[in-house]
Amino acid sequence: MPTSQASDSYDLIVVGAGVVGCSVAWHAAALGAGRVLLVDRGGIAEGTSSQSSSILRTHYSVKENVELARRSWSVFTNFAAYLDDPEADCGLNRCGYLIVGAGDERGEAVRASLAQQRAMGISAEEIDAKQALELLPLLRTEGLDVFGHEPEAGYADAYLTATAFARAARRRGVEVRQGVRVTGLTTVGSRVVGIETDAGPIRAGTVVCAANVWTNRLLEPATGLVIPLVAERHEVMAFEAPEPYLPRYPVLKDMASASMVYARCYGRSQLLASPGLAGHATDPDEGQADVPLDVVADLGEQVAARLRSFEEAGVASTWTGLYDVTPDWNPVLGPLPGWDGLQVGFGFSGHGFKLSPAVGRLLAQSALGLATDVSLTPYRFERFDEGALLVGRYGKGAVS
Ligand SMILES: Cc1cc2nc3c(=O)[nH]c(=O)nc-3n(C[C@H](O)[C@H](O)[C@H](O)COP(=O)(O)OP(=O)(O)OC[C@H]3O[C@@H](n4cnc5c(N)ncnc54)[C@H](O)[C@@H]3O)c2cc1C
Repeated sequence: MPTSQASDSYDLIVVGAGVVGCSVAWHAAALGAGRVLLVDRGGIAEGTSSQSSSILRTHYSVKENVELARRSWSVFTNFAAYLDDPEADCGLNRCGYLIVGAGDERGEAVRASLAQQRAMGISAEEIDAKQALELLPLLRTEGLDVFGHEPEAGYADAYLTATAFARAARRRGVEVRQGVRVTGLTTVGSRVVGIETDAGPIRAGTVVCAANVWTNRLLEPATGLVIPLVAERHEVMAFEAPEPYLPRYPVLKDMASASMVYARCYGRSQLLASPGLAGHATDPDEGQADVPLDVVADLGEQVAARLRSFEEAGVASTWTGLYDVTPDWNPVLGPLPGWDGLQVGFGFSGHGFKLSPAVGRLLAQSALGLATDVSLTPYRFERFDEGALLVGRYGKGAVS
């Protein structure tokens, strides 16, 4: 039940206005959280959300992620109605997802993950090379044995999604404060009762921390816990080839390439591509970094080996982004051990956008003491110490 009255006091404060925090704030308001504040040191979606490739798929080897992605997909495909805002747009392109592999361990993991999806009622078929070429005429099928197709998938726009959640949250009465840095948590015993900011303290019934790569800096001093989180730099490139990579072509995941490259249409004709391996640990506050020429050349060669016409491609642009990586490349969702009044959502490890609608609702439910739609236990913080890591057939990595 809402309790607070004073203007510097809220029932719920969400720290971080990325796509996760904006989703939490909207869901909290929709669930009747009372006075809700969303606070960010910058602007809405100016953190890692604005760097996202924004691919949406339910293809995972970790079945808990399949469930969160499936629930989120139903929000992305019904976005304006879900937010009760006819102008809300997440930029969805339902172009499908094509995952290809060789006849090796990774290829078998693709097959097993497709079977798991089907067992969960998701359309995810193994198709043949001819069908794959119909979907993606540029595909070079040499050396490929496995072609998995998920028609209900594609990509959207994380910036649009976050700003739409924020606007809908405002309409439901959420207060949004931008340009306010949270410097710490206010605690009484083992309870979090508010936040310290560069604009003064603010009291809260519950604090939800959605500060991504900056989470450990904020939570470790206040809680005394060691937060297992590494900021990792990843490179993304846009290529332009004589033949366009059309918007109707599926998102491509190439498990047969050395770097497990992912790619999708960018704009109307370019190809956005990125290596799917671990990146480089770095300072979370680093801005855009140079993409070394050897990285560009290496990715370009892998793309050209898989897509016709891309041997003649030029590099249109490059950029970098930060993943918030946990030891098992899956997020931590829910409370922290030994602490009341605090919920966290961090460690999305390069695949959090596609989960953000479901995660927002689950964290809001958890913060309000409601039953969650699905159990958050698999995503508990304690799993790292318990050795109960969330790792599937793909091992550690953003494909998860
Ligand atoms: C290059 C790249 C490609 C990706 N591709 C995909 C993809 O294809 N599909 C997919 O599902 N996911 C993808 N992801 C992951 C996905 O984009 C992220 O998981 C998601 O955007 C994270 O959202 P967030 O809200 O947790 O974090 P952020 O957007 O980083 O938001 C965190 C916010 O917290 C604020 N903050 C931090 N510290 C403080 C403080 N002390 N006080 C106040 N505010 C603070 C920051 O300013 C920031 O706005 C990708 C990520 C990257 C980097």
